[in-house]
Amino acid sequence: MALTKKQTAELAKQVFEYAPAPESIDHVKIQPRYGLFIGGRMVEGHSKKRFPTINPATEAKLAEVVEADEVDVDHAVKAADKAFETWARLAPSQRARYLFRISRLIQERSRELAVVETMDGGKPIKESRDVDIPLAAAHFFYYAGWADKLEWAFPNRKPKPIGVAGQVIPWNFPLLMLAWKIAPALAAGNTVVLKPAETTPLSAMVFAEICMQAELPPGVVNILTGAGKTGSLVVTHPDVKKVAFTGSTEVGKLIQRAIAGTGKRLTLELGGKAANIVFEDAPLDQAVEGIINGIYFNQGHVCCAGSRLLVQESIAEPLLEKLKRRLSTLRLGDPLDKNTDIGAINSKAQLERIEGLVESGIEEGAELYQPDCVLPERGFWFPPTLFTNVSQSYRIAREEIFGPVLSVLTFRTPNEAVEKANNTPYGLSAGVWTDKGSRILWMAERMRAGVVWANTFNRFDPTSPFGGYKESGFGREGGVHGLLPYLELN
Ligand code: NDP
Repeated sequence: MALTKKQTAELAKQVFEYAPAPESIDHVKIQPRYGLFIGGRMVEGHSKKRFPTINPATEAKLAEVVEADEVDVDHAVKAADKAFETWARLAPSQRARYLFRISRLIQERSRELAVVETMDGGKPIKESRDVDIPLAAAHFFYYAGWADKLEWAFPNRKPKPIGVAGQVIPWNFPLLMLAWKIAPALAAGNTVVLKPAETTPLSAMVFAEICMQAELPPGVVNILTGAGKTGSLVVTHPDVKKVAFTGSTEVGKLIQRAIAGTGKRLTLELGGKAANIVFEDAPLDQAVEGIINGIYFNQGHVCCAGSRLLVQESIAEPLLEKLKRRLSTLRLGDPLDKNTDIGAINSKAQLERIEGLVESGIEEGAELYQPDCVLPERGFWFPPTLFTNVSQSYRIAREEIFGPVLSVLTFRTPNEAVEKANNTPYGLSAGVWTDKGSRILWMAERMRAGVVWANTFNRFDPTSPFGGYKESGFGREGGVHGLLPYLELN
């Protein structure tokens, strides 16, 4: 018997209860202390300073890592420089074999890596298991394929590696950002010194073990834990020839200033404030899923997050109603539970940044909506949040919040949508939802964004270049374009 309209509405309101389904952590051995990965071995390091890395969902200490100092950085760069002599001359097909091996080992250890990533960073296990780790393996697999085909990638040029790459990565996709940096660098014949973020060093430590398991020649990959100071020492070391950074625009600018005039190559992948634009002819239920994925995926700790929803005025009301209903079905809690949609905020500092910006939104006059949801007592948490009545001048519409907070604005015409979407100092990504292919192309042409997703959002693939305009940085990672920053083309 068909349900009446009222019954259907009642059913849609129901939130299903899920029995807990925690991922087992028995197979994961996090060591109490880690050293530094230099010259193919885990070493104690010169620096005696150590700091804890904690689980943001429980605030429990997971391990201690070294805060690498100037001497450690110098050791690592020297090891990378020495390894460069042989790695760059190795038959490209041999380099490919190592990369394939690394990719395979990431797949073999994927359950362990997913749990480590979730415990150290707070992201839901279903995301680290289904997105971060498979994509990291795919990156190594993809660039392994290019290692012996560089001359086909750049015909009539003579591609040559550059030397030691200094790479600094953030905490939102720790292993994936490591893969984005290390895989193209190695495929092109460079060696690397990489610094993971202070709050998420553990998957990089497992990766160091993987390099040893793969019998990667000593010094080809070096990993130094530490805070911002260590990162700054890595990028400014005189023997580092190429710098790759992902993180905040503020630190990106600092790095650009610090290395100006040194001749070092630089790529910067910085923040974003992407517009996710929904036209009145879009399939609304699909768009709602895309909006949810666009901003609440990884607690909104995503540089290309669709943090500004631009919705055509004629459908604003029904779309917001559907969105609010969907918001109330998101499950927030234990990141290790396979049912969890929204995990913990990565750190106390990040939580405070989100709270400050949300406060500013309320003060400036936006209307806040949060579904009923109980936050765990320990750890760092923020409920999925939606702001309506937002003006373009409000901080929540201009600044990167990097949290589960969506600002909703409206538009009437496609031109107005383009104006508003581009009215930001950033230019990393955008989304367009419409039934018309021609409109997608029309919009994509006018959008100042490195990536424009059509009727989807937050889709990544190693073959597809990713990067920004304006204050979102420069240079591309992924695809053939991702090899360019690591090659000299004669
Ligand atoms: P940062 O830019 O400070 O961190 C990114 C990386 O750079 C980390 O490894 C960090 O080390 C390192 N670092 C910090 N200072 C320097 C320096 N002077 N020289 C070289 N490396 C340095 O980001 P935050 O963690 O402070 O986050 C702040 C804001 O930045 C977020 O709220 C978000 O808006 C934005 N952000 C954007 C990201 C993106 O992908 N676009 C990623 C992360 C943050 P350490 O972790 O030890 O401080």
